[in-house]
Amino acid sequence: MAEGAPILRIENLTKVFGKLRAVNDVSLDIVDGEFFTIVGPSGSGKTTLLRMLAGLEKPNAGDVLLRGNRVNDVPANKRPTCMVFQSLALFNHRTVGQNIEFALKMRGVSRAARRERCEELMKVVRLPQEFYAKGVTKCSGGERQRVALARALASDPDIMFFDEPLSAIDYQLRKLLEVELKDLHRETGKTFVYITHSLEEAMVMSDRIGIMQAGRLIQIGTPDEIYTKPLNKFVSEFMGEVNTLPVQVGSDGKFDCADLGSQFLGPQTDNGIQSGYLVIRPESMRFLNDPSEADNHVKGSLFNEYAMGSRVQYHVRAGNQMLVIEKLREMAFRGSINDDVMIGWDVKDSVLVSD
Ligand code: ATP
Repeated sequence: MAEGAPILRIENLTKVFGKLRAVNDVSLDIVDGEFFTIVGPSGSGKTTLLRMLAGLEKPNAGDVLLRGNRVNDVPANKRPTCMVFQSLALFNHRTVGQNIEFALKMRGVSRAARRERCEELMKVVRLPQEFYAKGVTKCSGGERQRVALARALASDPDIMFFDEPLSAIDYQLRKLLEVELKDLHRETGKTFVYITHSLEEAMVMSDRIGIMQAGRLIQIGTPDEIYTKPLNKFVSEFMGEVNTLPVQVGSDGKFDCADLGSQFLGPQTDNGIQSGYLVIRPESMRFLNDPSEADNHVKGSLFNEYAMGSRVQYHVRAGNQMLVIEKLREMAFRGSINDDVMIGWDVKDSVLVSD
Protein backbone atom coordinates (compact mmCIF):
# COMPACT_ATOMS: atom_id res chain seq x y z
CA MET A 1 0.00 0.00 0.00
CA ALA A 2 2.87 2.36 0.75
CA GLU A 3 3.39 3.12 -2.94
CA GLY A 4 2.85 6.30 -4.88
CA ALA A 5 3.51 9.89 -3.89
CA PRO A 6 3.10 10.81 -0.25
CA ILE A 7 0.20 13.16 0.40
CA LEU A 8 1.74 13.92 3.76
CA ARG A 9 5.44 13.82 4.57
CA ILE A 10 6.88 14.54 7.97
CA GLU A 11 10.57 15.06 8.42
CA ASN A 12 12.35 14.91 11.76
CA LEU A 13 9.37 16.28 13.64
CA THR A 14 10.00 17.14 17.29
CA LYS A 15 7.82 18.68 19.99
CA VAL A 16 9.21 19.58 23.38
CA PHE A 17 7.17 20.44 26.49
CA GLY A 18 9.62 21.74 29.12
CA LYS A 19 12.17 18.94 29.44
CA LEU A 20 9.93 16.33 27.82
CA ARG A 21 10.41 15.36 24.17
CA ALA A 22 6.76 14.39 23.61
CA VAL A 23 7.52 13.72 19.92
CA ASN A 24 11.14 12.93 19.17
CA ASP A 25 12.54 13.16 15.63
CA VAL A 26 9.70 11.41 13.81
CA SER A 27 9.81 10.98 10.03
CA LEU A 28 7.07 9.37 8.01
CA ASP A 29 5.42 9.34 4.57
CA ILE A 30 1.66 8.84 4.35
CA VAL A 31 0.46 7.78 0.93
CA ASP A 32 -2.55 9.33 -0.79
CA GLY A 33 -5.65 7.26 0.00
CA GLU A 34 -4.20 5.08 2.74
CA PHE A 35 -5.58 4.37 6.20
CA PHE A 36 -2.63 4.98 8.49
CA THR A 37 -2.95 4.40 12.21
CA ILE A 38 -0.58 5.58 14.91
CA VAL A 39 -0.73 3.30 17.93
CA GLY A 40 0.91 3.61 21.30
CA PRO A 41 0.28 3.56 25.03
CA SER A 42 -0.94 6.58 26.94
CA GLY A 43 1.63 9.37 26.95
CA SER A 44 3.65 8.03 24.00
CA GLY A 45 3.02 11.21 21.98
CA LYS A 46 0.26 10.15 19.56
CA THR A 47 -2.02 13.14 20.12
CA THR A 48 0.85 15.60 19.98
CA LEU A 49 2.04 14.11 16.69
CA LEU A 50 -1.47 14.15 15.20
CA ARG A 51 -2.02 17.73 16.32
CA MET A 52 1.19 18.78 14.57
CA LEU A 53 0.09 16.98 11.40
CA ALA A 54 -3.27 18.75 11.53
CA GLY A 55 -1.74 22.19 12.22
CA LEU A 56 -3.12 22.45 15.75
CA GLU A 57 0.33 22.39 17.35
CA LYS A 58 3.60 23.93 16.12
CA PRO A 59 6.67 21.68 15.97
CA ASN A 60 9.90 22.78 17.66
CA ALA A 61 11.86 21.18 14.85
CA GLY A 62 11.15 19.40 11.60
CA ASP A 63 8.74 19.88 8.73
CA VAL A 64 5.23 18.88 7.68
CA LEU A 65 4.78 18.71 3.90
CA LEU A 66 1.36 18.45 2.29
CA ARG A 67 1.61 17.34 -1.35
CA GLY A 68 5.21 18.52 -1.27
CA ASN A 69 4.49 21.97 0.19
CA ARG A 70 5.77 22.93 3.63
CA VAL A 71 2.74 23.77 5.78
CA ASN A 72 4.31 24.30 9.23
CA ASP A 73 2.98 27.85 9.32
CA VAL A 74 -0.42 27.20 7.71
CA PRO A 75 -3.18 27.19 10.36
CA ALA A 76 -5.46 24.15 10.62
CA ASN A 77 -8.51 25.92 9.18
CA LYS A 78 -6.57 26.90 6.04
CA ARG A 79 -5.52 23.30 5.29
CA PRO A 80 -7.50 20.78 3.21
CA THR A 81 -7.74 18.55 6.26
CA CYS A 82 -10.08 18.06 9.19
CA MET A 83 -10.08 16.37 12.54
CA VAL A 84 -12.64 14.12 14.23
CA PHE A 85 -12.05 14.42 17.97
CA GLN A 86 -12.65 11.91 20.75
CA SER A 87 -15.09 14.41 22.26
CA LEU A 88 -16.66 14.82 18.76
CA ALA A 89 -16.95 18.57 19.49
CA LEU A 90 -20.49 18.80 18.10
CA PHE A 91 -22.66 21.90 18.47
CA ASN A 92 -24.95 20.56 21.15
CA HIS A 93 -27.67 23.17 20.83
CA ARG A 94 -28.04 22.46 17.09
CA THR A 95 -29.74 19.74 15.08
CA VAL A 96 -28.06 16.89 13.21
CA GLY A 97 -28.62 18.73 9.92
CA GLN A 98 -27.19 22.02 11.21
CA ASN A 99 -24.10 20.23 12.51
CA ILE A 100 -23.46 18.44 9.24
CA GLU A 101 -24.10 21.53 7.13
CA PHE A 102 -21.88 23.81 9.19
CA ALA A 103 -18.84 23.82 6.87
CA LEU A 104 -21.09 24.26 3.82
CA LYS A 105 -22.86 27.22 5.39
CA MET A 106 -19.49 28.82 6.20
CA ARG A 107 -18.60 28.48 2.53
CA GLY A 108 -21.83 30.21 1.48
CA VAL A 109 -23.44 27.15 -0.12
CA SER A 110 -27.16 27.72 -0.76
CA ARG A 111 -29.76 26.25 1.59
CA ALA A 112 -31.10 23.78 -1.01
CA ALA A 113 -27.63 22.58 -2.04
CA ARG A 114 -26.67 22.20 1.63
CA ARG A 115 -29.70 20.08 2.32
CA GLU A 116 -29.04 17.89 -0.71
CA ARG A 117 -25.39 17.32 0.29
CA CYS A 118 -26.41 16.69 3.90
CA GLU A 119 -28.84 14.00 2.84
CA GLU A 120 -26.13 12.34 0.75
CA LEU A 121 -23.72 12.42 3.67
CA MET A 122 -26.31 11.02 6.05
CA LYS A 123 -26.63 8.07 3.67
CA VAL A 124 -22.85 7.63 3.56
CA VAL A 125 -22.59 7.46 7.36
CA ARG A 126 -25.80 5.41 7.68
CA LEU A 127 -27.90 7.95 9.54
CA PRO A 128 -31.66 7.74 8.90
CA GLN A 129 -32.96 10.81 7.02
CA GLU A 130 -35.56 11.51 9.73
CA PHE A 131 -32.68 12.45 12.02
CA TYR A 132 -32.14 15.65 10.03
CA ALA A 133 -34.13 17.83 12.43
CA LYS A 134 -33.23 15.93 15.61
CA GLY A 135 -31.17 17.70 18.29
CA VAL A 136 -27.74 16.09 18.59
CA THR A 137 -28.11 15.76 22.35
CA LYS A 138 -31.03 13.41 21.70
CA CYS A 139 -28.82 11.09 19.63
CA SER A 140 -27.10 7.99 21.00
CA GLY A 141 -23.30 7.74 21.20
CA GLY A 142 -23.10 5.86 17.91
CA GLU A 143 -25.41 8.30 16.15
CA ARG A 144 -23.39 11.28 17.41
CA GLN A 145 -20.31 9.53 16.07
CA ARG A 146 -21.93 9.35 12.65
CA VAL A 147 -22.93 13.03 12.82
CA ALA A 148 -19.31 13.96 13.58
CA LEU A 149 -18.11 11.90 10.61
CA ALA A 150 -20.66 13.43 8.25
CA ARG A 151 -19.79 16.92 9.47
CA ALA A 152 -16.09 16.28 8.81
CA LEU A 153 -16.81 14.83 5.37
CA ALA A 154 -18.95 17.84 4.45
CA SER A 155 -15.85 20.01 4.08
CA ASP A 156 -14.53 17.46 1.53
CA PRO A 157 -11.06 17.28 3.09
CA ASP A 158 -8.09 15.55 1.40
CA ILE A 159 -7.05 14.08 4.74
CA MET A 160 -9.18 13.17 7.73
CA PHE A 161 -7.46 12.98 11.12
CA PHE A 162 -9.07 10.94 13.87
CA ASP A 163 -8.14 11.42 17.52
CA GLU A 164 -9.34 8.24 19.28
CA PRO A 165 -12.95 8.76 18.18
CA LEU A 166 -14.14 5.35 19.39
CA SER A 167 -12.42 5.16 22.75
CA ALA A 168 -15.46 6.25 24.79
CA ILE A 169 -17.83 3.82 23.06
CA ASP A 170 -18.82 0.41 24.42
CA TYR A 171 -17.22 -2.69 22.96
CA GLN A 172 -20.01 -3.96 20.69
CA LEU A 173 -20.74 -0.61 19.07
CA ARG A 174 -17.03 0.07 18.72
CA LYS A 175 -16.56 -3.17 16.78
CA LEU A 176 -19.40 -2.16 14.45
CA LEU A 177 -18.06 1.36 13.96
CA GLU A 178 -14.55 0.05 13.24
CA VAL A 179 -15.95 -1.89 10.30
CA GLU A 180 -18.06 1.08 9.20
CA LEU A 181 -15.04 3.41 9.33
CA LYS A 182 -13.06 1.01 7.19
CA ASP A 183 -15.96 0.87 4.71
CA LEU A 184 -16.22 4.67 4.79
CA HIS A 185 -12.53 4.90 3.99
CA ARG A 186 -13.02 2.59 1.02
CA GLU A 187 -16.11 4.43 -0.22
CA THR A 188 -14.60 7.93 0.04
CA GLY A 189 -11.04 7.06 -1.11
CA LYS A 190 -9.73 9.74 1.26
CA THR A 191 -6.55 9.54 3.32
CA PHE A 192 -7.32 8.65 6.94
CA VAL A 193 -4.80 9.21 9.72
CA TYR A 194 -6.05 7.70 12.93
CA ILE A 195 -4.68 7.39 16.45
CA THR A 196 -5.61 4.85 19.06
CA HIS A 197 -4.07 3.05 22.00
CA SER A 198 -5.71 -0.18 20.79
CA LEU A 199 -3.61 -2.22 18.42
CA GLU A 200 -6.60 -4.50 17.95
CA GLU A 201 -8.60 -1.54 16.60
CA ALA A 202 -5.67 -0.54 14.38
CA MET A 203 -5.34 -4.07 13.00
CA VAL A 204 -8.96 -4.17 11.85
CA MET A 205 -8.95 -0.89 9.96
CA SER A 206 -5.51 0.09 8.80
CA ASP A 207 -3.44 -0.31 5.66
CA ARG A 208 -0.35 0.51 7.72
CA ILE A 209 0.36 1.03 11.38
CA GLY A 210 3.06 3.07 13.12
CA ILE A 211 3.92 2.10 16.69
CA MET A 212 4.88 4.91 19.05
CA GLN A 213 6.90 4.49 22.20
CA ALA A 214 8.15 7.41 24.30
CA GLY A 215 7.87 9.98 21.50
CA ARG A 216 9.44 7.83 18.79
CA LEU A 217 7.90 5.93 15.93
CA ILE A 218 9.65 2.63 16.51
CA GLN A 219 8.04 0.38 13.88
CA ILE A 220 5.99 0.98 10.75
CA GLY A 221 4.36 -1.81 8.78
CA THR A 222 1.21 -3.46 7.53
CA PRO A 223 -0.94 -5.12 10.21
CA ASP A 224 0.44 -8.46 9.04
CA GLU A 225 4.07 -7.31 9.30
CA ILE A 226 3.52 -5.89 12.78
CA TYR A 227 1.74 -9.04 13.86
CA THR A 228 4.21 -11.54 12.46
CA LYS A 229 7.46 -9.57 12.77
CA PRO A 230 7.23 -7.35 15.85
CA LEU A 231 10.38 -5.26 16.30
CA ASN A 232 10.78 -5.97 20.00
CA LYS A 233 9.11 -7.28 23.15
CA PHE A 234 7.18 -4.02 23.61
CA VAL A 235 5.50 -4.32 20.19
CA SER A 236 4.79 -8.03 20.53
CA GLU A 237 3.18 -7.64 23.96
CA PHE A 238 1.27 -4.59 22.87
CA MET A 239 -0.71 -6.81 20.55
CA GLY A 240 -2.35 -8.68 23.37
CA GLU A 241 -1.53 -11.94 25.01
CA VAL A 242 1.52 -13.64 23.56
CA ASN A 243 4.05 -16.10 24.90
CA THR A 244 7.41 -14.37 25.37
CA LEU A 245 10.09 -16.82 26.48
CA PRO A 246 13.38 -15.26 27.64
CA VAL A 247 16.18 -17.06 25.76
CA GLN A 248 19.93 -17.04 25.20
CA VAL A 249 21.21 -18.02 21.78
CA GLY A 250 23.76 -20.81 22.32
CA SER A 251 26.86 -21.41 20.15
CA ASP A 252 25.10 -24.43 18.63
CA GLY A 253 22.31 -22.12 17.39
CA LYS A 254 19.83 -23.53 19.90
CA PHE A 255 17.87 -21.30 22.26
CA ASP A 256 18.34 -21.87 25.98
CA CYS A 257 15.32 -20.98 28.07
CA ALA A 258 16.20 -20.95 31.78
CA ASP A 259 12.55 -20.31 32.77
CA LEU A 260 11.50 -23.62 31.25
CA GLY A 261 14.80 -25.46 31.82
CA SER A 262 14.80 -26.45 28.14
CA GLN A 263 16.50 -25.87 24.83
CA PHE A 264 14.49 -24.99 21.76
CA LEU A 265 14.92 -24.80 18.06
CA GLY A 266 14.32 -21.25 16.90
CA PRO A 267 14.35 -19.11 13.80
CA GLN A 268 17.63 -18.30 12.04
CA THR A 269 18.86 -15.01 13.41
CA ASP A 270 20.51 -12.51 11.14
CA ASN A 271 19.94 -9.62 13.55
CA GLY A 272 22.81 -10.57 15.87
CA ILE A 273 20.58 -10.93 18.92
CA GLN A 274 22.40 -13.04 21.53
CA SER A 275 19.69 -12.88 24.15
CA GLY A 276 16.09 -11.85 23.77
CA TYR A 277 12.63 -13.29 23.68
CA LEU A 278 11.11 -16.04 21.63
CA VAL A 279 7.60 -14.86 20.78
CA ILE A 280 4.92 -17.45 20.04
CA ARG A 281 1.30 -16.47 19.50
CA PRO A 282 -1.33 -18.37 21.52
CA GLU A 283 -2.96 -19.67 18.33
CA SER A 284 0.37 -21.13 17.16
CA MET A 285 0.74 -23.28 20.27
CA ARG A 286 -0.91 -26.68 20.28
CA PHE A 287 -1.50 -29.63 22.54
CA LEU A 288 0.61 -32.68 21.61
CA ASN A 289 0.31 -36.38 22.18
CA ASP A 290 3.91 -36.98 21.19
CA PRO A 291 7.01 -34.70 20.98
CA SER A 292 7.45 -35.63 17.31
CA GLU A 293 4.28 -33.69 16.43
CA ALA A 294 6.03 -30.29 16.66
CA ASP A 295 9.53 -28.82 16.35
CA ASN A 296 9.50 -27.84 20.05
CA HIS A 297 7.68 -29.24 23.05
CA VAL A 298 7.21 -28.39 26.73
CA LYS A 299 5.57 -30.35 29.52
CA GLY A 300 3.31 -28.61 32.00
CA SER A 301 -0.03 -28.78 33.73
CA LEU A 302 -3.34 -27.27 32.66
CA PHE A 303 -3.94 -24.33 35.02
CA ASN A 304 -7.25 -23.07 33.65
CA GLU A 305 -9.40 -22.64 30.58
CA TYR A 306 -11.47 -19.67 29.47
CA ALA A 307 -14.35 -19.66 26.99
CA MET A 308 -14.04 -16.63 24.68
CA GLY A 309 -16.97 -16.99 22.31
CA SER A 310 -15.68 -18.66 19.16
CA ARG A 311 -12.36 -19.50 20.84
CA VAL A 312 -11.14 -21.13 24.01
CA GLN A 313 -8.00 -20.00 25.81
CA TYR A 314 -5.89 -22.27 28.01
CA HIS A 315 -3.25 -21.37 30.54
CA VAL A 316 -0.60 -24.01 31.04
CA ARG A 317 1.93 -23.76 33.86
CA ALA A 318 5.39 -24.84 32.75
CA GLY A 319 8.53 -24.06 34.80
CA ASN A 320 8.33 -20.36 35.79
CA GLN A 321 6.04 -19.54 32.90
CA MET A 322 2.31 -19.47 32.32
CA LEU A 323 1.90 -20.32 28.64
CA VAL A 324 -1.17 -19.28 26.71
CA ILE A 325 -2.82 -21.41 24.03
CA GLU A 326 -5.87 -20.49 22.00
CA LYS A 327 -8.01 -22.80 19.93
CA LEU A 328 -11.20 -22.46 17.95
CA ARG A 329 -14.09 -23.77 20.03
CA GLU A 330 -14.74 -26.70 17.71
CA MET A 331 -11.07 -27.73 18.08
CA ALA A 332 -11.11 -27.38 21.86
CA PHE A 333 -8.80 -29.52 23.99
CA ARG A 334 -10.62 -32.14 26.03
CA GLY A 335 -8.83 -32.15 29.36
CA SER A 336 -9.26 -31.31 33.02
CA ILE A 337 -7.66 -28.71 35.25
CA ASN A 338 -4.31 -29.90 36.67
CA ASP A 339 -3.90 -32.54 33.94
CA ASP A 340 -0.33 -33.08 32.82
CA VAL A 341 -0.14 -31.83 29.26
CA MET A 342 2.42 -31.53 26.49
CA ILE A 343 2.32 -28.48 24.30
CA GLY A 344 4.44 -27.43 21.38
CA TRP A 345 5.05 -25.17 18.42
CA ASP A 346 6.93 -25.08 15.14
CA VAL A 347 9.98 -22.95 14.45
CA LYS A 348 8.18 -21.10 11.64
CA ASP A 349 5.63 -19.82 14.17
CA SER A 350 8.21 -18.22 16.47
CA VAL A 351 10.01 -14.88 16.25
CA LEU A 352 13.14 -13.82 18.15
CA VAL A 353 12.91 -10.22 19.36
CA SER A 354 15.12 -7.99 21.48
CA ASP A 355 14.09 -6.37 24.74
P1 ATP B 1 -3.07 9.50 25.47
O1 ATP B 1 -3.29 8.19 24.77
O2 ATP B 1 -3.14 9.37 26.95
O3 ATP B 1 -3.87 10.62 24.90
P2 ATP B 1 -0.78 10.26 23.88
O4 ATP B 1 0.07 9.12 23.37
O5 ATP B 1 -1.71 10.87 22.92
O6 ATP B 1 -1.50 9.85 25.21
P3 ATP B 1 0.22 12.94 24.25
O7 ATP B 1 -1.11 13.48 24.65
O8 ATP B 1 0.74 13.29 22.91
O9 ATP B 1 0.26 11.35 24.41
O10 ATP B 1 1.27 13.37 25.34
C1 ATP B 1 2.65 13.02 25.27
C2 ATP B 1 3.37 13.60 26.46
O11 ATP B 1 3.38 15.01 26.35
C3 ATP B 1 2.67 13.29 27.78
O12 ATP B 1 3.64 13.04 28.75
C4 ATP B 1 1.90 14.57 28.08
O13 ATP B 1 1.76 14.74 29.48
C5 ATP B 1 2.77 15.63 27.46
N1 ATP B 1 2.00 16.79 27.00
C6 ATP B 1 1.06 16.78 26.02
N2 ATP B 1 0.56 18.02 25.82
C7 ATP B 1 1.20 18.84 26.69
C8 ATP B 1 1.15 20.23 26.96
N3 ATP B 1 0.33 21.05 26.29
N4 ATP B 1 1.96 20.71 27.93
C9 ATP B 1 2.79 19.91 28.60
N5 ATP B 1 2.92 18.58 28.39
C10 ATP B 1 2.13 18.05 27.44
